[in-house]
Amino acid sequence: MRKIYLDYAATSPLDARVRRVMNATSFGNPNSLHAFGQEAQRTLDAARTAVAGLLGAESREVIFTGSATEANNAVLRGIVGAVRENADGTRRDALPKIIISAIEHESVYETARALEKSGAVECVIIPVDEHGTVDIKKIEKVLDDRTILVSVMYVNNETGSVQPIVKISELIKGFRNSKLQKPNNKQTQNYGTKYPLFHCDAVQAFQYFDCDVNALGVDFLTLSAHKIYGPKGVGVLYIRNKEGITDSERQKDIIPIITGGGQEFGMRSGTQNVPGIVGFSEAATSAVAMREKNAEKMCVLKKKTFDLIRDAYPRAELNGGRKDEGSPHIMNVWLPGIPSELLLIQLDQEGIAVSGGSACHARAPRPSRTVAAMHGDARAKESVRISFGRGTTFADVRALGRILREILGRYSS
Ligand code: PLP
Repeated sequence: MRKIYLDYAATSPLDARVRRVMNATSFGNPNSLHAFGQEAQRTLDAARTAVAGLLGAESREVIFTGSATEANNAVLRGIVGAVRENADGTRRDALPKIIISAIEHESVYETARALEKSGAVECVIIPVDEHGTVDIKKIEKVLDDRTILVSVMYVNNETGSVQPIVKISELIKGFRNSKLQKPNNKQTQNYGTKYPLFHCDAVQAFQYFDCDVNALGVDFLTLSAHKIYGPKGVGVLYIRNKEGITDSERQKDIIPIITGGGQEFGMRSGTQNVPGIVGFSEAATSAVAMREKNAEKMCVLKKKTFDLIRDAYPRAELNGGRKDEGSPHIMNVWLPGIPSELLLIQLDQEGIAVSGGSACHARAPRPSRTVAAMHGDARAKESVRISFGRGTTFADVRALGRILREILGRYSS
């Protein structure tokens, strides 16, 4: 049976060229002083420079991590830890606040909730509209002098909805500027005018959208290698540096969550995974080179797929906007009356891999939290995510349409 993979938002295969480059990387420890170490250090530096270039950042602003999950934890826990260490903790009215959207990936959502549970922060969760988009006015309403961090993802991993990142960063900049106008305010003094900072999880966006950190206006940005045909277990955290800031000053602003040998400018200890990092850099470079061409192809595939699904099951509806909106590689479809778990199993038996919720639920069959946030639990339980990638062909999509017609026909009749 021919297998058809339509779950690229969960992960992508390692690109053959990326694998070759990784295999050719020397084994040395970049922190060793001898020639083997120096070679590894040069390789690491080159990869960091390349990734920084793709983000419009400086090399020292790019921190390699063990995953995007780790990078997201590093931002949330690092900022909260720094604020608690530096601020006057005796003032209960000054409990720091973080704002996230209701559709953040678990690595942001659960981390924010855990921080709130521990009593370290108040966490405000901003709802989304029926297209899966965060309402900026709702963020504006809850921004205050206690807010230290806003975290909103660029492209949602379950529906592909695209968030207004530039508008949110402008709102935050405006708020910070307004703080400068009232420097004697008690609470402003408590946290300082640099807050709130803005974090964006761009894991699903990088492949198809420009992620220039200055154009986006973000203070932190997260990426993951395995969503862009790189290796698993490699992430990037971009941290905006104030001009002239030293490594130790930076660690007062964002406390490292992994301490030890002080690698990655003290921000993430542990011997760097040089082959993995090289793989990231190679994968990211080709993702940017192919961005436009691939986006065009995915748009056509997405449209075609939805038309075929509608032919097979006319009651089908998109979750997250119309078919020409959202990221080109992800579509989420509601099939009223069809339990998604059952459909996933039936499709899998036919060799087709799609998904229900996010793949990051450690195999627990939970419906999509994002679709539930948009339309409620019942619809989430009848929705599937189909995501496309470089390997997807029109023949794959036609095969999906044919098999869906067979399966769904049983429900229609
Ligand atoms: N953020 C988003 C939007 C994701 O889609 C994912 C993975 O699904 C992650 C973060 C976590 O990435 P990683 O597997 O590198 O921890």
